[in-house]
Amino acid sequence: MIYDVVIIGSGPAGLSAGLYAGRAALSALIIEKEQVGGQIVQTAEIENYPGCEEGESGSSLAERMRQQAAHFGVEIKSDEIKEINPSGPVKVLKGYSEEYKAKTVIIASGASPKMLGCQGEKEFTGRGVSYCATCDGAFFRDMDVYVVGGGDTAAEEALFLTRFARKVTIIHRRNELRAAKSIQEKVKQHPKIEFMWDSTVESLQGAAMLDKMTVKNVKTGARMEIAPAEDDLTFGVFVFVGFEPRTALFEGILEMESGYIRTDEDMKTNIPGVFAAGDIRVKSLRQVVTAAADGAVAAVQAEKYIEAMVSK
Ligand code: NAP
Repeated sequence: MIYDVVIIGSGPAGLSAGLYAGRAALSALIIEKEQVGGQIVQTAEIENYPGCEEGESGSSLAERMRQQAAHFGVEIKSDEIKEINPSGPVKVLKGYSEEYKAKTVIIASGASPKMLGCQGEKEFTGRGVSYCATCDGAFFRDMDVYVVGGGDTAAEEALFLTRFARKVTIIHRRNELRAAKSIQEKVKQHPKIEFMWDSTVESLQGAAMLDKMTVKNVKTGARMEIAPAEDDLTFGVFVFVGFEPRTALFEGILEMESGYIRTDEDMKTNIPGVFAAGDIRVKSLRQVVTAAADGAVAAVQAEKYIEAMVSK
């Protein structure tokens, strides 16, 4: 079968593209290698997607998006694309379980959390180090938790972690947060949140579980060793230092800028019939609302591209 559109990724950009493609009666397939919903599944609360319900979690919003897209006939498959040949009228995508063919492709595979790159980080991931507060916050009930980063994600997740942790310390490499002012206020006023400014994590150590972290003050050069609080065996380190686009598959095929796919305002890449939407593309604001908007534009443009092919 040759699909009208194959969408890589099922975050807000992919699901929105699926919804618009389905409503346009295109045969559409979404391919997802992990969880349907993308990054927002790990977000405890979405506050700034227009019309979302108060206190709504990312996973609940993603599930409503999935249902809406499925209602309009979009197929969703679990697979990972390992090779793509996007030139020509029929695009070929090789997955681990199948090969897919499509007239158009919408790339909406988003981004994955950036790692700190410090000593011990990989070793203690899942044993004290985490990249998802929603997934792992409850393991640190009544313990000390450290959040690394100063952006919106770090600030929001630090607030979420106060539900479980005894104390949350934000470790940031500068002396001011990058997060939006409204959330900065909430974080700074929270009685359970403290700050270690101008600081970076140098190493993470332990035996079975993480039990030692060395933090360096970048201004003074002073090092501080952090250990679990009395009676605790470990502490949590949640890393929120940004995201990296999942574009390795498209290197040398699509035009990129700093690792992100370059598109025009119609989400067109440099290859006809190939579109990119959401966090994976060069853009100024990476939010659920802009990802969803990108997905809609990409699907409408895919429809136009197919119409033009037929009338040739
Ligand atoms: P971000 O905005 O890129 O912030 C990353 C933070 O990590 C920055 O504070 C940065 O420090 C720090 N950092 C980067 N590399 C580091 C390293 N190696 N070691 C230590 N610190 C490091 O990432 P984000 O907070 O994940 O947000 C990503 C995008 O999603 C942003 O556009 C954000 O606005 C958006 N977002 C929006 C919402 C919302 O609107 N509700 C929620 C979450 C995310 P510097 O400040 O010194 O650069």
